[in-house]
Amino acid sequence: MTKHIFVTGGVVSSLGKGITCAAVGMLLENRGLKIALQKLDPYINVDPGTMSPYQHGEVYVTEDGAETDLDLGHYERFTDAVLSKDCNYTTGKIYREVIRKERAGDYLGSTVQVVPHITDEIKAAIRSLDDDATDVIITELGGTVGDIESLPFLEAIRQFALEVGRANVLFIHLTLLPYLRASGEAKTKPTQHSVAKLREIGIQPDILICRSEQGFDEGMRAKISLFCNVEKDAVIDEMDVEHTIYQVPVELAEQGLDDQIISRLRLETPKPLDLTAWNAMIERVKSPKGSVRIAVVGKYIELHDAYKSIYESLDHAGIANEVAIDLVKVQAEDVVDRGAAALLGDVDGILVPGGFGDRGIEGKILAVRYAREQGVPYFGICLGMQVAVIEFARSVLGLEDANSTEMDLVTRDPVISLLDEQQQITDKGGTMRLGGYKCRLGEGTRAADAYGRAEVVERHRHRYEFNNAYRQRFEENGAVIAGVNPDRDLVEIVEIADHPWFVGVQFHPEFKSKPIAEHPLFGAFVRAAMHRRDAEKNGAGGEAVNDERLERV
Ligand code: GLN
Repeated sequence: MTKHIFVTGGVVSSLGKGITCAAVGMLLENRGLKIALQKLDPYINVDPGTMSPYQHGEVYVTEDGAETDLDLGHYERFTDAVLSKDCNYTTGKIYREVIRKERAGDYLGSTVQVVPHITDEIKAAIRSLDDDATDVIITELGGTVGDIESLPFLEAIRQFALEVGRANVLFIHLTLLPYLRASGEAKTKPTQHSVAKLREIGIQPDILICRSEQGFDEGMRAKISLFCNVEKDAVIDEMDVEHTIYQVPVELAEQGLDDQIISRLRLETPKPLDLTAWNAMIERVKSPKGSVRIAVVGKYIELHDAYKSIYESLDHAGIANEVAIDLVKVQAEDVVDRGAAALLGDVDGILVPGGFGDRGIEGKILAVRYAREQGVPYFGICLGMQVAVIEFARSVLGLEDANSTEMDLVTRDPVISLLDEQQQITDKGGTMRLGGYKCRLGEGTRAADAYGRAEVVERHRHRYEFNNAYRQRFEENGAVIAGVNPDRDLVEIVEIADHPWFVGVQFHPEFKSKPIAEHPLFGAFVRAAMHRRDAEKNGAGGEAVNDERLERV
């Protein structure tokens, strides 16, 4: 029978609940269990796809094309769990289904209420991941205990435990022990209140994971145990990690969290914990052989979470190539005001990520121009590919007015235009070209070099595409159409032949990178940047290189 772990949060938000869930999943998987991960978000949007990254950070896209919470990115980076649209439910998605059923007459005769109708629907969402093959489903509850909007979810998991039997469910509560400098100690009172609040709802946590700056001693552990009614060895100390979030599972394992979970849920595991590969990866993070400067030119640059998967993917490529990524975050609008040379003059590689709308677009185009003209390795992702196409059209093809119809509906040269199937779509939610699609790679291209194969599947999230009417002119003038969707002949990858490394992709490779398996394109980009760094040091640079010559510096 499938067992369930519910992870709630208390005291404050942003405690790293997503990372903790991912770490728990990683440890259980390492012990030989098959796990599934899921996030329940109490906000009313049906999914985060319609929210600004400033509100919610990046939108993470699953293989089956769901626009989801960025915590799912942590789940996929830490584990091998396959994530789908059933892995993220919001209040909006739950209510939409209940209201649909009400209109269809499914509840004919009844008054439709939060209990039982909404709570039943939440329980169905949790059960949707239950198949015979899965040993443990880890469900993270977004928000903080005490929020009005969290209540139906907490009530649903309380009922759920009753229905499947308390022995088959584990409640983990994550809290904060704030450190008060004046008294020189971490305080337990907010944690006590948070647990009291949970118990009021009918949930007694089995395991408490306490986030703290400095850790705590046995006396503190005993105190938390006593006041929160949680056994001493189930009070886990999750101290701030020094180097990387990938240390979190190791820290939790050192305190026996995996054993705790396994014995409390009476799980049978075929394997003891083996963190050899994981620890080797952490060692590489701790002792890089040099660094490489990568500029990310975007419009949500102030908020780290807005480009979470991109930054993680760069780090993964850094780990694989034993370099630290020295990230230079550049606000696209500043490139217009201050000039590309001033902001990008000392970087080894330039990346323009995805985005929507026209703010910052001209700055991104200037960044592309600088990369193209100066031979700086360039990696364009989604909108970053589209601006590279616009820049090439304007500068190389001489089409001064070239643009995307997203930015200029009446441009004379719409080199990027709306996908055919998008013409009639007016609704904004969940209507883009989303999820995994095939891309066939052109022989001898940088992309094919990097992937080492002829066809790949990558995830998408866009409405606009390369306008095939311009394809021939691009190819005749030094651009390489390096990847195409074989079913619909959509351009997926554009490169520039006479350049050290210039690759723009219509898809989002950052959703498939892992700390122990760099993404091939991020890897090749970082190696190209390392090559540039070394060539600059030696006074050379700028000449075209193939990836073999970029192998391990
Ligand atoms: N706004 C562009 C489009 O919709 C790019 C999308 C993106 O970068 N994710 O096609």
